[in-house]
Amino acid sequence: MITVAIPNGLVHLAESKAICPNCKREIPFDDIESKFMKQNNFTIKMKCTCGEIIGVSQDFRGDYIAFKL
Ligand SMILES: [Zn+2]
Repeated sequence: MITVAIPNGLVHLAESKAICPNCKREIPFDDIESKFMKQNNFTIKMKCTCGEIIGVSQDFRGDYIAFKL
């Protein structure tokens, strides 16, 4: 869990579970978040450091899931 302080209290965010299907690297939460902010989509495409293009989506709990495109 990641706890973020906001003016009215604290918000608990689910930690990223996005693992690259190719190299098994855990995609940093910040990387995903910044890409999601630029798009209105619930699924984004991003490139892992291994060079694999992967899709990242959110499940019903708000956890990030990475998958092979
Ligand atoms: Zn990778």
